[in-house]
Amino acid sequence: MSYTPEEIRAALENKELCVYYQPLYVTMTSSLKSAEALVRWVKPDGTVVSPAAFIPDAEQSDLIMDIDWYVTDIVCRTLVKQNMMPQFPISVNFSRRHIREKDFSEKLSAIVDSYDLPHPLIEVEITESAMVEDESLFYDWIVSIREAGFSVAIDDFGSGLSSLQFVKNVPADVLKIDKSLLSNNCEDEKERIVLESIFTFAHRLHMKTVAEGVETQEQLNFLRSCDCNKIQGFIFARPMPEEDYLSLCSSYLSRDEATDILQVQSQASAMNLLMEVVMRRYPLVLFSNLTKNTFYAMSYEHFTVKSCPSAGVYDDLIKQGIGSMHPDDRERFAELFNRENLLKEYASGKQDVRIVTRQKGDDGVYRYVETVDYFVKSKYSDDIITIALAHNLED
Ligand code: C2E
Ligand code: MG
Ligand code: MG
Repeated sequence: MSYTPEEIRAALENKELCVYYQPLYVTMTSSLKSAEALVRWVKPDGTVVSPAAFIPDAEQSDLIMDIDWYVTDIVCRTLVKQNMMPQFPISVNFSRRHIREKDFSEKLSAIVDSYDLPHPLIEVEITESAMVEDESLFYDWIVSIREAGFSVAIDDFGSGLSSLQFVKNVPADVLKIDKSLLSNNCEDEKERIVLESIFTFAHRLHMKTVAEGVETQEQLNFLRSCDCNKIQGFIFARPMPEEDYLSLCSSYLSRDEATDILQVQSQASAMNLLMEVVMRRYPLVLFSNLTKNTFYAMSYEHFTVKSCPSAGVYDDLIKQGIGSMHPDDRERFAELFNRENLLKEYASGKQDVRIVTRQKGDDGVYRYVETVDYFVKSKYSDDIITIALAHNLED
């Protein structure tokens, strides 16, 4: 079924277009966080027409822009009705046609200001496909909206020709992962790897993430092990009329957000937390594969020396380490920490080996450093790995 522009315009003018709200929830705590405004055409006989049935027709002309501004106005009115309760931010979908609207952010500011609302309560959603119009225009458009104090979300990421290059460059606040990326119920290993990488990538680039179209417990469980901030989907709530949304928000009046850092961790952020704790205690963490003669070092800026290479051949590293030790400690260190000896210690049943030596820092001063090598035998390979934790005893 398709509609003519005249029919849609008449619906707009007769106020038959109304706005539904779909709540978004914090992934780890399931608490309400924000909402997305989704337009519906409610005909006089009560039938509800979904946006998929008329938005593509409206997008053929500037009619879509009038619809989007109309929705923005309704959203502001909804937020005003909430002024005696917690106001959750609401995102509004804008068609790619707005990118060529010169004074977009001024117009948005004028509407929001006329209701005396703080700008961070409004988020602008734009699909990643809008970039094909003109990349630099698209980026400038986003920057100007953010400069006006609004948040910008990239909608439907993953539905088209998404690239990590896009994530790297787009100056947005939020990345909304399209439901098509969850199509295999997050049970397919390749799908999981792709999703995990997108979340990690987005976060390292300081973008928040939303997973859209979450319907099942399996999807939710998996997303909770990723670095995904918010969930939008039928598993929690469907788009609902304003009245229902307002009563949902008011029921949150008495609920406190989780403030316990551990309650809001995902597996990925808990890993970061763990690493941070370990690195504070042990500024040098060294992973070595004794069997393959390789190492990978994570060294914190406050260790005695900053010059530890980050990866390479284990035997070379030990040679270099000996050079920075006090002459009286060199022999003991070389005997204990050479690869052959460590493998022998492991074979004799030792769980770890430790040593205290004096090491010369970058400032030329010797300090006592304790190094403990823990042996790890992987279940999946024959390699003998050590995890070495080193710290300055005088700190
Ligand atoms: P969208 O912006 O990506 O909105 C999310 C769509 O996913 C909504 O469809 C929502 O109902 C649906 N959805 C949410 N959770 C689930 C789930 O768990 N499972 C499934 N299967 N679907 C879920 P809706 O409301 O039909 O809107 C469709 C699209 O129409 C929107 O996609 C958006 O692109 C467009 N649209 C809606 N309102 C507006 C508007 O005011 N202006 C513009 N320009 N476009 C709009
Ligand atoms: Mg959207
Ligand atoms: Mg979407």
